[in-house]
Amino acid sequence: MNNKIELSSDDVPSKWYNINADLPVELPMPQNSEGKDQIGNLPKIFCKECLDQEFSTERYIKIPNEVRQLYQRLGRPTPLCRAVGLEEKLNTPAKIYYKREDSSPTGSHKLNSAIAQAYYAKKEGVERLTTETGAGQWGTALSLASSLMDLECTVYMVRVSFDQKPFRKTIMQLYDGKVYASPSMQTEVGKKILEETPDHPGSLGIAISEAVEEALADDKVKYTLGSVLNHVVLHQTVIGQEIQTQLEIAEEEPDTMVACVGGGSNFGGSLFPFLREKIKGNSDCEFLAAEPSACPTLSEGEYRYDFGDNMGFTPLLKMFTLGHDFVAPSVHAGGLRYHGMNSQISLLTKEGYITPRTAHQNEVFKAGKLFAQTEGVIPAPETCHALKVAIDEAQKCKQTGEEKTIVVNFSGHGLMDFKGYESYLNGTMENS
Ligand SMILES: *Cc1c(COP(=O)(O)O)cnc(C)c1O
Repeated sequence: MNNKIELSSDDVPSKWYNINADLPVELPMPQNSEGKDQIGNLPKIFCKECLDQEFSTERYIKIPNEVRQLYQRLGRPTPLCRAVGLEEKLNTPAKIYYKREDSSPTGSHKLNSAIAQAYYAKKEGVERLTTETGAGQWGTALSLASSLMDLECTVYMVRVSFDQKPFRKTIMQLYDGKVYASPSMQTEVGKKILEETPDHPGSLGIAISEAVEEALADDKVKYTLGSVLNHVVLHQTVIGQEIQTQLEIAEEEPDTMVACVGGGSNFGGSLFPFLREKIKGNSDCEFLAAEPSACPTLSEGEYRYDFGDNMGFTPLLKMFTLGHDFVAPSVHAGGLRYHGMNSQISLLTKEGYITPRTAHQNEVFKAGKLFAQTEGVIPAPETCHALKVAIDEAQKCKQTGEEKTIVVNFSGHGLMDFKGYESYLNGTMENS
């Protein structure tokens, strides 16, 4: 039996899949506070091509050759592995497959969109990219992508993470990224906050505001986002298209597919090609979105218009939200603490195509430890949420005797997250 399905470079998809073409109801447009359709100052902030992709209804969008070649050089296609050790340990009749996005050089799926965004920026004459980073994975991916495209890159890293994860900063600096603890003295927003509160711990909302301020001030500077927006999820659909090819080779049909959701990019990227079949009525597959109990956006949020950032800089987006002023408790999965959700995933959840599941922090790390012990790979805390939900499903199969095929997107490795694992092991982790 072949437990690792690998593809060749030629199998890297040549187009991205755009679910806007297949949604069961039309996607609501962004609005201003008067309830009028508008995209506000987005054209000043983002690259033109990315904004066009954001609202495109073309089913497939060609991946530029240069981007596809970089995918091939930097880890794509990624393997699909069968978690035989985990299955045996659980003594389940279910089959569990996991897609290894951790095998990217930056350790997570984030590079799939970073390369595309840096490519379009370069083509449009941009000289510098700015962004924010919480846990550090996006800042790392964008620093590398900028270096490959010969662009400058400025990363505003939330101060608490900056202090907690000094090695993340070193990696970004190796890729020539300029990293500032946010709030910083680089921007007016940052200076004002530091004047009032010199030891401010920072937040994603503040870091976004600093990065956006720079893009608004200079035509040669653009802002990039690593999740939430449709074009980011679009770029991630190389993952799901590869999984389709790999499952065909394995002669498997998925019964249950799982991914964790922060802003939705690894979930949408790995599952949208399969959701398309469900929308068309060709599939009974169940799609499970794993989120922390401490930030249950899809499970307990409201489906309504809300701002994408804490300050209210962005247009209003129709999505599941906990409120733009929601402050998530400090769960270790930094990538899953966002108050909102990608609008396509929100719509498909509202329409009943996606089922959200929540998990508590301790049981999530327990799942991660079990996975590490049986498969050898140490998952990122975000990824542990998806594994926890997949393990629960496999355990249900043990009860019912069903031989389900479960596929999990393994979004990233946890080799930079030892603070979290340490507190789990020594029992000091809060069970939020
Ligand atoms: C950023 C990140 C996430 C969460 O972001 P999504 O856009 O929801 O995918 C999950 N896992 C890893 C490893 C990440 O780096």
